[in-house]
Amino acid sequence: MPTKERNLSSLVIQRDREVVMFDCGEGTQKQFMLASIGYNKPMRVLVTHMHGDHVLGLPGLLMTMSLQGRDKPIEVYGPPSIKDFMDSVTRIIRPRIEFPLSIAEVEDGMVYETPMYSVLAAHVDHTIPCLAYALIEKDRPGKFIPEKARSLGVREGPLWKKLQLGESVEVKGGTIRPADVMEGSRPGLKVVYSIDTRPCKSVVTLARNADLLIHDSTFDDAMDDKAKTYGHSTARQAGEVAREAGAKHLLLTHISAMYKDANPLLDQARNVFKGALLASDLMVLEFKGGSLVVRQ
Ligand SMILES: [Zn+2]
Ligand SMILES: [Zn+2]
Repeated sequence: MPTKERNLSSLVIQRDREVVMFDCGEGTQKQFMLASIGYNKPMRVLVTHMHGDHVLGLPGLLMTMSLQGRDKPIEVYGPPSIKDFMDSVTRIIRPRIEFPLSIAEVEDGMVYETPMYSVLAAHVDHTIPCLAYALIEKDRPGKFIPEKARSLGVREGPLWKKLQLGESVEVKGGTIRPADVMEGSRPGLKVVYSIDTRPCKSVVTLARNADLLIHDSTFDDAMDDKAKTYGHSTARQAGEVAREAGAKHLLLTHISAMYKDANPLLDQARNVFKGALLASDLMVLEFKGGSLVVRQ
């Protein structure tokens, strides 16, 4: 349920010029406007499950984008029945969506892959089928240093090409990794979005060593029975999942409307996981040189 301070669920990752949206609760189009994200960027939408607070904003957002002259395609991914939902809306409302729109139903495993990153999905433990998503960047190779390669015994030729493409090679002296001969390379980031779930193993596995885990934190610790009944997590449980997964940072979200001040939930999560943060509307987090900066 929204409150005066908190909109329904939606989160956007912007990398390069692309927008990857996770869930689209009612009212997201207004937040999208306030965040000045832009209506005509390459975009994909990943829907976790078919509860209204995660998906009812999607038709409106797409219609507004079309009215604003969007012409780039959008790919929507979600659980079975996302297609049925969008088909029903289209049949009854008959929106004019003038850009190419594709809807795909996904299961566990690879959702899609680009040269820069991949997205994986895993089922979590909610009251209806619900997916968590991991966006996993590939390592970004740096500048190749020929002298370094030569000094390590890698001769010019096909082995150089391999290293430049990010593969390790074998030479007499042992294994040479791309990082040994490239300058300024950086490991890819991993961000996991897991919302509306009881604490579960599949999230721990999906979020292994994640740079950022965004996790359900609907209730406080005293309400773990209620959390279990409604298929949600408490703040402490979110912290435990992050700790078990070895995540670097945890962002608590999907806070119940009963908490006007959610800071006690943040304290409870920090008792078990120091790197916890509390999400707020229009919050911006930026990865800069590998560390996470809160910019809002
Ligand atoms: Zn739900
Ligand atoms: Zn929800």
